[in-house]
Amino acid sequence: MPLNKTHFIAGKFTEPSDHGQPIHNPATGEISANVSLASKNETEAAITAAQKAFTEWKQVTPLNRARILFKFKERVEQHRNELAELITCEHGKVLDDARGEITRGLEVVEFACGIPHLLKGEYTENVGTDVDAWSIKQPLGVVAGITPFNFPAMVPMWMFPLALACGNTFVLKPSEKDPSVPLRLAELMHEAGLPDGAFNVINGDKEAVDTLLTHQDIQAVSFVGSTPIAEYIYQTASHAGKRVQALGGAKNHMVIMPDADLDQAVNALVGAGYGSAGERCMAISVAVAVGDIADKLVEKLAPRVRELRIGNGMEPGVEMGPLISKAHRSKVKDHIDSGVAQGASLIVDGRNLKITGHEEGYFLGGCLFDNVTTDMGIYKEEIFGPVLSVVRVPDYKTAVDIINAHEYGNGTAIFTRDGDSARQFAHDIQIGMVGINVPIPVPMAFHSFGGWKRSLFGPLHMHGEDGVRFYTRKKAITSRWPTGIRGDTEFVIPTMK
Ligand code: NAD
Repeated sequence: MPLNKTHFIAGKFTEPSDHGQPIHNPATGEISANVSLASKNETEAAITAAQKAFTEWKQVTPLNRARILFKFKERVEQHRNELAELITCEHGKVLDDARGEITRGLEVVEFACGIPHLLKGEYTENVGTDVDAWSIKQPLGVVAGITPFNFPAMVPMWMFPLALACGNTFVLKPSEKDPSVPLRLAELMHEAGLPDGAFNVINGDKEAVDTLLTHQDIQAVSFVGSTPIAEYIYQTASHAGKRVQALGGAKNHMVIMPDADLDQAVNALVGAGYGSAGERCMAISVAVAVGDIADKLVEKLAPRVRELRIGNGMEPGVEMGPLISKAHRSKVKDHIDSGVAQGASLIVDGRNLKITGHEEGYFLGGCLFDNVTTDMGIYKEEIFGPVLSVVRVPDYKTAVDIINAHEYGNGTAIFTRDGDSARQFAHDIQIGMVGINVPIPVPMAFHSFGGWKRSLFGPLHMHGEDGVRFYTRKKAITSRWPTGIRGDTEFVIPTMK
C-alpha cells in the first residue's frame, strides 16, 4: 500500500486529498507513494499559517533564531542517512551523491547560524551636527520557495534557513516528483523548536504555484527550475509586486586548453558530465576542445563513458543512477536521436542500456557526441541527461565567443596549466560561476550562487550576502534628540550642517 505524502501546515501534516499523483522509484519504476496536490484553498491555508506565525517569529531575537537552526543542523546530521536514502529512492542519484547534497545544504544552515552578525546594520555618528543616522535590516514577512526535482534537499536549504534566520516565515512548494525529503526537513525544523506555521511545505502543481505568485500576503518568491518556468515566475510574481529571484536552466561548457592535464580534464568531464545522470544545473554538458587536444580527449573519454557503472543508486559501487522519470528519459532519447540526425558523431551510444533486475527502471547509458556544432539542437538546448557533447574549436577566442553567445550563463570551467589564460578567461566570460581546473564551481554558502543571462531572472543571487539582502528590507533612520534641536521651522529640504 503506497504511503501518502501530504502537506505540512502550521506544524502538522494534513489529511490526504483526492487530488494527487504517484511518486515513482526511478530505479525500479514502482510507485512508492502518492502525493497530494494542494488546491488554492490549501495553499492559502499555508500562507495564512505563515502570516500568523510571522507576528511571533519576527520578535524572536536573531540569536535565538540561530539557536533553533543549530538544533536543526544537529537533527539533519543525525538523520543524514535516512534523508539520503529518501533522496535516492525518489530521485535516483547514488547514495554518496545524496549525502553530498545534504552536506551542501547544511553549509547554508551553518552560514545562517551567523545571523546575529549578518543582520548588523550601519551607523554614522554626527551625520549632521548633533544628528545620527543608522540602518537596520528587517524581515519581509511571508516568503515562498518553489524548487526543482534534482536537489530535493539542497535547493530548499539554499532558501528557507536564511529566510527564517532573517525573521521571515516560509511556504515551500517543492517538486511533486520527490517531496519526501522537504517534508522531513520541515518536521526536523519543527522538532528543533521552530514555532508552528513558521515553515510550511505544500505539494502541488501550477494551481498551488499560481496562488503563491499572486497572493497579497506573499512578499517575495525564490524559484529554482527550468528557464521557461523561471521566466514565467519572474514575470508573474514581479507583476504582482513581489521581490523575485528565479534561477533557470543551464548549458555549462568546459574549455580544455591544449596545455591542460588531460587525465585531470577527463576525470573532471566524466564526473561533471555523468554524475547524477547529468541532472544537475551545474553539470558539464559541452566539452570545448581547443586546438589539437580534441582527438586525444575523445580517445581517453570514450572508454570511460562506456565503462560507467550504472545501476540502482542504493547499491554500493554504482556511479550513475537512473533518470527521474520515463517521460524525461524519452525526452533525452529524442535529443540524442536529433543529434544523430543532424550529423553529430555519436561515439558512445547508451540508448539501449538494460539493467538486469531493474528492467522497469528509467536507465539510460552514458552518451558521448563528437563534432557537435553550435547550430545543432543538442548544442543549443539543455538536455539534462547523461549526454556530453564535444565541440572542436581552433583557439581560445572561439571558445570564449561561443560560450558568450549561448543563451544560458550558469556555470563554466577552463582546464589549463597557464595562469594567463585562466585569468583572462575569468575576466572575459559572460557566465555567473567560473571554475579554473574545477569542473563544478558551485560557490560555498558564504558566497552567492547564481547564473547570468537566461539562467537567472532578478538582480540577486542565492544565499551568501545576496541571500541576506534578498530576505530583508533596509530601513534608514536619522535621529536628533531634543537638546540638538535648534532654530525655527524649516521649509527647505534639510541639508546636513
Ligand atoms: P521545472 O521548471 O519543471 O519545475 C520547477 C518547479 O516549478 C517545480 O516545483 C514544479 O512543480 C514547478 N512548475 C513546473 N511547471 C510549472 C508551471 N507550468 N507553472 C508553475 N509551476 C510549475 O524544473 P525541474 O524539471 O523540476 O528541474 C530541472 C530544471 O531546474 C533544469 O532546467 C535545471 O537546470 C534547473 N535547475 C537550475 C538550478 C540553478 O541553480 N540555476 C538548480 C537546479 C535545477
